[in-house]
Amino acid sequence: MEVVILGSGQDGGVPQLGAERSVADPRTASSLAVLTASGSIVLFDASPDLRVQWLTVAPRPIAAVFLTHGHMGHYAGLMQFGKEAAATRELPLHATRRMLTYLDSNEPWRSLLFERFLADVPLDPGVPVSVGGDLTVTATAVPHRSEFTDTVGFSIAGPERSLLYLPDVDRWDAWDARGYVGRHDIAIVDGTFWSEAEPPGRSIADVPHPTIIDSMERFADLVDDVTIVFTHLNHSNPAGAAGSAEAREVHRRGFLIAEDGMRFDLGGRS
Ligand SMILES: [Zn+2]
Ligand SMILES: [Zn+2]
Repeated sequence: MEVVILGSGQDGGVPQLGAERSVADPRTASSLAVLTASGSIVLFDASPDLRVQWLTVAPRPIAAVFLTHGHMGHYAGLMQFGKEAAATRELPLHATRRMLTYLDSNEPWRSLLFERFLADVPLDPGVPVSVGGDLTVTATAVPHRSEFTDTVGFSIAGPERSLLYLPDVDRWDAWDARGYVGRHDIAIVDGTFWSEAEPPGRSIADVPHPTIIDSMERFADLVDDVTIVFTHLNHSNPAGAAGSAEAREVHRRGFLIAEDGMRFDLGGRS
């Protein structure tokens, strides 16, 4: 079973509309695909770039979608499942009750559910969900800006290895983030910003994320056991530029920077 990073950029992708320049290399918005033994795909987040991202794993059919939260980079791609595009039939959409209520209360998402292109499956954090026999997915609630919905990270357990997908979190303290990350073989986590001084034209207090500098300190002693990969990179993040001093620093300290198309093996057959 393989996991493919479909996108490794922040919600707006890299380059970002309206940004004068991008420091990071081009990336689509953050999402993952799990390639199951039955030949289908399970998607983690439906990004605005989904149509193009799917080409990386095509022509496999999409068997289910799991959503982390209601910020544009993580669910706007759902519109590709509607009448004008894929027109799926009751494709299982796994999301928290608050996320589903949000979708069911706002067009154009409401019609996708009402007309049964998507079939809502409420997710309860902490309760494992079995998908296709050898894939188990467990959501965990995480602290993140909650204007519209709550936010979860996903533990994705394959036949031999487990992977954590946590693209957005406001901060690592005030919850057992170390224990959570440390329970996995691979952890693909929020690496939006390199440093606190970085967000161009705004304060990190308005768009809170842990910095890569801080995360590397915090998780330094986990990297012998866990492959920790920073994803969801903002266009301003110098670690997102291959060969930069910051990217080299990340590798020197035993961490990885996510790239679109990167693959991880969870064991068993693919
Ligand atoms: Zn995001
Ligand atoms: Zn977010």
